[in-house]
Amino acid sequence: MAEVSDLTKLRAALSGYLIEPREEAYDQARRVWNGMIDRRPAAIARCATVTDAVRCVEFARTCDMTVAIRGGGHNVAGNAVCDGGLVIDLSLMKEIVVDAPRRRVRAGGGVVWGELDAATQQHGLATTGGLMSTTGIAGFTLGGGLGNLMRSYGLACDNLLSAQLVTADGRELMVSGVENSDLFWALRGGGGNFGVVTELQFQLDPVGPILVAGGVAHPLSAARDTLRFYREVTTGAADALMVYANLGHGPDGSPRVGMRSVFNGPVAAGEEAVRKLRGFGSPIADEIRPRSYVEIQRLVDPNFPAGRLNYWKAHFLAELSDELIDLVVEAFRRVPSRYSGIAFEHMGGTVARVGASETAFSHRSAAYSFLILAGWEDPSESEANVAWARDLWEQVRPMAAAGVYVNYLGGEGEQRIHEAYGPNLDRLTEIKRRYDPDNFFHMNQNIRPEALRHT
Ligand SMILES: Cc1cc2nc3c(=O)[nH]c(=O)nc-3n(C[C@H](O)[C@H](O)[C@H](O)COP(=O)(O)OP(=O)(O)OC[C@H]3O[C@@H](n4cnc5c(N)ncnc54)[C@H](O)[C@@H]3O)c2cc1C
Repeated sequence: MAEVSDLTKLRAALSGYLIEPREEAYDQARRVWNGMIDRRPAAIARCATVTDAVRCVEFARTCDMTVAIRGGGHNVAGNAVCDGGLVIDLSLMKEIVVDAPRRRVRAGGGVVWGELDAATQQHGLATTGGLMSTTGIAGFTLGGGLGNLMRSYGLACDNLLSAQLVTADGRELMVSGVENSDLFWALRGGGGNFGVVTELQFQLDPVGPILVAGGVAHPLSAARDTLRFYREVTTGAADALMVYANLGHGPDGSPRVGMRSVFNGPVAAGEEAVRKLRGFGSPIADEIRPRSYVEIQRLVDPNFPAGRLNYWKAHFLAELSDELIDLVVEAFRRVPSRYSGIAFEHMGGTVARVGASETAFSHRSAAYSFLILAGWEDPSESEANVAWARDLWEQVRPMAAAGVYVNYLGGEGEQRIHEAYGPNLDRLTEIKRRYDPDNFFHMNQNIRPEALRHT
């Protein structure tokens, strides 16, 4: 463990600043999105430059300290913060440079999606980003990155052109298809295992600025029929049409089923594409309309405030069977909290046209991502909420496809981590061994450098 005097040296060496437990800013700085996470690092280094990140890595190595890397602090597992170690916090690294003629953007490791979308949309451009404006571009992209544009343009990691990386031995590397291409492959789905990403460069495409988007809601009594209809709408849908389904609660707290759509194309074509969706049943709410892409990228923000208690469980699905729909709807009737929900994210399109071994993210043939989002406010209700999510997840497991999205994993153990990296685990392990043989970067869904038996 580092001595206080050592931290003083680190503080003096940074262009950014260091926050220690005695400081007023400490309690706010150690918080992450998930209120279940309550960890107390020895210090939080708010890096302002790549050199700061290098100094943090060198310092932590010398003192044998654990490091955690923080991008947007959104991850439900809370690995952006550690007990007793050093948090390498990139939230000051906010530079965004759009190269509109070449349709590219470079952005610092602390940028969040709301910031990137606002900057690229000034030029009528965008890349696949998260559904919430406060999710970090770094952690999101390193795990894969599922979003509204993915059926049109692929996952966020498919649009990554290059990254600047600080490795475990303190080197600054440029990583792309031509430089350090082994690392470039690993970064696109292998999470934060390989170093500190201080800058990311993405490919952009023309988007909007106005797209047809929004949700339709039905009462829970119509949930079975609505989810069967959702399956029908999503089967064979155009790449431009993204539809999510969810079981949740309305503003008055009543349980409901919803379908939220985004059409990535001209407004007239969008109105046509959502006509069938709007015509189904008797919706209790219809909020589909032309909206700016920037607004669309903030639509779900109010549903997921920072600090609430959260527990998530996920699967990929090869299909949405009647049996699974029945099971999920029944389980939702027993949900203990009005803040909990169940979501289906429609995969396919461009995502599926990339090979399973082309990037570290391998789950290319999944039809849907299935997510149980338990959220509640009173800590005395934690046991009941966690039990509800676990129970449903166990019931769905026999019907699920192999694998899980690494960015939706909590602390679920090594077997589940193997399932997240799937058939790419062995190659990821080799690259980890090459660049981080001591497992310096282990606060993540960890790829252990020693050989693992892949089950
Ligand atoms: C409300 C909410 C909505 C979400 N919506 C979506 C969605 O639409 N689509 C989707 O795919 N996912 C979504 N996610 C999941 C999200 O992709 C992950 O939580 C992701 O890890 C968040 O990235 P972050 O930078 O904010 O995370 P952080 O918590 O800061 O970091 C998570 C991990 O990523 C790694 N990491 C982060 N930054 C860096 C860096 N600069 N260099 C190296 N490693 C780094 C570290 O291992 C770190 O532990 C959502 C999560 C939440 C809570």
